[in-house]
Amino acid sequence: MKKHNFSAGPCILPKEVLKKASEAVINFNNDNLSLIEISHRSKPFVDVIENARSLVLELLGLENKGYKALFLQGGASNQFLMTAYNLLNKKAAYLNTGTWSSKAIKEAKLFGELVEVASSKDKNFNYIPKNYTIPTDVDYFHCTSNNTIYGTQMKSFPETNVPLVCDMSSDIFSRQLDFSKFDLIYAGAQKNMGPAGTTLVVVKEVILGKVERIIPSMLNYQVFIDKESMFNTPPVFAVYTSMLTLEWLKDLGGIEFIEKVNQQKSALLYNEIDRNPLFNGNVAKEDRSHMNATFTLADEKLTEKFNTMWHEANINGLNGHRSVGGYRASMYNALPLYSVQALVDVMQELERTA
Ligand SMILES: *Cc1c(COP(=O)(O)O)cnc(C)c1O
Repeated sequence: MKKHNFSAGPCILPKEVLKKASEAVINFNNDNLSLIEISHRSKPFVDVIENARSLVLELLGLENKGYKALFLQGGASNQFLMTAYNLLNKKAAYLNTGTWSSKAIKEAKLFGELVEVASSKDKNFNYIPKNYTIPTDVDYFHCTSNNTIYGTQMKSFPETNVPLVCDMSSDIFSRQLDFSKFDLIYAGAQKNMGPAGTTLVVVKEVILGKVERIIPSMLNYQVFIDKESMFNTPPVFAVYTSMLTLEWLKDLGGIEFIEKVNQQKSALLYNEIDRNPLFNGNVAKEDRSHMNATFTLADEKLTEKFNTMWHEANINGLNGHRSVGGYRASMYNALPLYSVQALVDVMQELERTA
């Protein structure tokens, strides 16, 4: 039986997606060739990437609104650099909610003046700062919608007149938002969309072309827009598998449907964390992530026992990030409700036998 996979990333993908992707590696489209040995310029693959790009805009409700979807490489980490390279003329504002935001800030500083509007570093990023002011003279505001490591999630986004840039790596396609409020969204595929190897960028084209510097081709959004995401060889397997996941999500009923399932899953786990005296949640309740739930044992002496129990229950990937410790249950779109129930059962069993 497949393990209950709570891995934070790369993470669980739907079974049927893995099956189709593995079949395509052997024989794609019944053409007696592998997906990964045909030209990326051949019609079968061009169809794949076009379908993937239009599914992205459809699922996000961004069709015919001036947005382009791109499948790039270099991970979300490369977007820390690329967003600033393409958008930062003089000054940008950043919200610091953890390791990933901090890394984005570090890269952006190479290109101009940075205003850190607020930070939750004082409490090891266990909450989302609120009531900060975004200067009106900045080129854009950057935030991280879901903080994978700490388990916090932005439930609302600031109203601002400057372009809004967001790292949605670990919660894209997981909840309904007015995505048209964002001018640029990026997400490494391996958290909620596909395998590692590609990064989704959704950009409103009108915000481009405003910086004075010369941008190298491989880091230039406009170059990839003009070449329809195929300036160079795209990561064909990652794009194809992402397309399969997007189709899976659309067939289920899209973000509206999956958001309800995600709410059920996180409610089940957080209720147990709050009810069970052996466990403590790490973060401010109102900022709890529906994707990554972080928690600790009230009594560290139970660590070995709990670890043995969840391993025996066929659970994978529950250890917290090395910078936080404790436990982290990542409940991405493809994780079934029964996997969360399996974890809750173990937590209750620990309570009974401790
Ligand atoms: C994982 C993660 C990243 C880094 O992604 P890479 O694709 O490994 O570069 C950036 N931001 C967030 C929010 C993440 O969860």
